Amino acid sequence: ESMTVKELSAKFGREVGEIIKKLMMLGVMATINQEIDMDTAKILASEFGITVEELPPAEDPTEIPDIEDSAESLLPRPPVVTIMGHVDHGKTSLLDAIRQTNVTGQEAGGITQHIGAYQVNYQNNKIVFLDTPGHEAFTAMRARGAQVTDIAILVVAADDGVMPQTIEAINHAKAAKVPIIVAVNKIDRPGANVDRIKQQLTEQGLVTEEWGGETIVVPVSAKTKTGINELLEMILLVAEVQDLKANPNRLAIGTIIEAELDKGRGPVATVLVQKGTLRIGDTIIAGTAYGKVRAMINDRGDKVKKATPSTPVEVLGLSDVPMAGDILAVVDENTARSVAEKRVSKKRIEDMGQMQKITLDDLFTQIQEGKLKDLNIVIKADGQGSIEALRQAFAGMQNKEVRVSLVHAGVGAINESDVMLASAANALVIGFNVRPDANSRKAAEAEKVDIRTYRVIYDVVNDVEAAMTGMLAPEY
Ligand code: GDP
Repeated sequence: ESMTVKELSAKFGREVGEIIKKLMMLGVMATINQEIDMDTAKILASEFGITVEELPPAEDPTEIPDIEDSAESLLPRPPVVTIMGHVDHGKTSLLDAIRQTNVTGQEAGGITQHIGAYQVNYQNNKIVFLDTPGHEAFTAMRARGAQVTDIAILVVAADDGVMPQTIEAINHAKAAKVPIIVAVNKIDRPGANVDRIKQQLTEQGLVTEEWGGETIVVPVSAKTKTGINELLEMILLVAEVQDLKANPNRLAIGTIIEAELDKGRGPVATVLVQKGTLRIGDTIIAGTAYGKVRAMINDRGDKVKKATPSTPVEVLGLSDVPMAGDILAVVDENTARSVAEKRVSKKRIEDMGQMQKITLDDLFTQIQEGKLKDLNIVIKADGQGSIEALRQAFAGMQNKEVRVSLVHAGVGAINESDVMLASAANALVIGFNVRPDANSRKAAEAEKVDIRTYRVIYDVVNDVEAAMTGMLAPEY
């Protein structure tokens, strides 16, 4: 973005000469039709004592703009809790124990439905638990920009202690700035030692309250149901400090917790409503899916007509299966359709980008993103001896993420069919003491195949190794 000196003069209500003079004082030599960038224009404005209003960023047609809620419109909402921790430390058992001890008499006989999240009622306070234990789901949702968890419960088995996934979970919660409550589980076990766990937690920066820190530690047993109520009380305590609020009187916004294609019912998505109230008949969009809310089912399997903030519900009526972490929003029909369509084409373009052929320069990025497991290479060389030498050099290359695999090796110049093969196999073409002919050059351009030519084996190995570790020097 920029403006000419003339336009600035009109905007500021100052003579062109004055503007040019001020610019000169700022070290910018300008003429009347010179384009001045925004940063300079801002400095200039402040020199004249003019305050510039920031222009709002251009609207992304695939985004649904969120409406800011006024402070008065906000009402308390229940906390949303995720249970994390090392495998076998009792995450699933704890979720079950919490659920079993907190369904009232008449509900106990009823069928509880797995919809990916459930609400319990503890002393007239609701708490929502996400029913997908582990930090993978948590992180996957966060990676898509969704932040649904208010509190993380870190389960640590008293007879096993802090383990690698415990530390991972701590780091994920910290990265998301979500407070952690530790549930030291399996205290019914003979080898249980809560103090030892507290010591280990301290080493991870989680210092318990009685040791002068801020971390709440609750000893529990999912098996004997000991400590479950204390844990729920602590959740409510932390939630109270967080002062969780949302405006229930607006169009709903939520996050997809899980979704699947049901044979009989079509796309089914569990939504955690975060703002507003979701109602039957609302037009919704979630990712590239849209539709009208045809029916809603809560975690008890009951049909409901509306869902308020922090309520998880299964939603029927979407055109397609959205992804966990997608934002669900209530919009008008035209917006739903047109934004969904724009998202579909945007996704198509992105997918095409991913199909672009491998190059040495983007190799490391693709390895890091986990998109690449094999580095396919087509070799053309001046003789069989060189091919053998290269083959051995590649075999000796150790990289646990990526394997070098030779799609084809031949003697002679790089020709069009080498390029087409590389294109189909998403491979690089390496020429050793040979060059591409004219047709192969054209084909490589069209097919976006990376051709590299070398004269020294060491350089080949060096470049490939450097590319794998992200150390490849840029080509000028
Ligand atoms: P997850 O992998 O973290 O979800 O762990 P699970 O909930 O599947 O539990 C792993 C194992 O530990 C299962 O065999 C459970 O029965 C057992 N377990 C879980 N909680 C307790 C507990 O409080 N006491 C005892 N003794 N065993 C438990």
